[in-house]
Amino acid sequence: MKIIAIGRNYINHAKELNNEVPKEPVFFMKPETALLQKNQPFYYPEFSKDIHYEVELVIKINRVGKHIPKEFANRYFSEIALGIDFTARDLQQKAKEKGLPWEKAKAFDHSAPISKFFDKNDYKSINDINFSLVKNGEVVQNGNSSDMIFPVDSIIAYVSQFVTLKIGDLIFTGTPEGVGPVQVGDKLVAKLEGKEVLTVDIL
Ligand code: ZN
Repeated sequence: MKIIAIGRNYINHAKELNNEVPKEPVFFMKPETALLQKNQPFYYPEFSKDIHYEVELVIKINRVGKHIPKEFANRYFSEIALGIDFTARDLQQKAKEKGLPWEKAKAFDHSAPISKFFDKNDYKSINDINFSLVKNGEVVQNGNSSDMIFPVDSIIAYVSQFVTLKIGDLIFTGTPEGVGPVQVGDKLVAKLEGKEVLTVDIL
């Protein structure tokens, strides 16, 4: 499986990092080794001094597709989750300055903690999902999928023009504003419609 992640998909997050609001989706990938499941802790890596959290709505692809029309995109996923797109912001900044790829800053081991999956039909609309991230008891990110610049159906249509989507692939759909650093000893809790679904202790 592969993890596809969308960058700059919420206007206020693009602005907080001084990025321009994109005219088409920006995506990058993380390998399977980025996954961190079952609320396992995250060990702060030695290569960075500025790891940031980014809480994101995640969809799981349930059938193979290429060139998926937007109007059929909803047939290609049935489950959703919350994930954290851990980012080595210091390495990403260096890569951006040099015009180099982001992989080192985004694709490292355990950079993609993920909750268990939930049936999308338990929610009123994929375009109206509330989610949040709590750090050490304080809400630091609060998002709703209705604020995405490119909604889920558009993401699936766009990405599948370039990359065949396969069963089990995950799409991280971008993060709302409020990203920030983590430190050893922090506890992150992600909430889906107010319900705690993912806990990550930073060790
Ligand atoms: Zn992200």
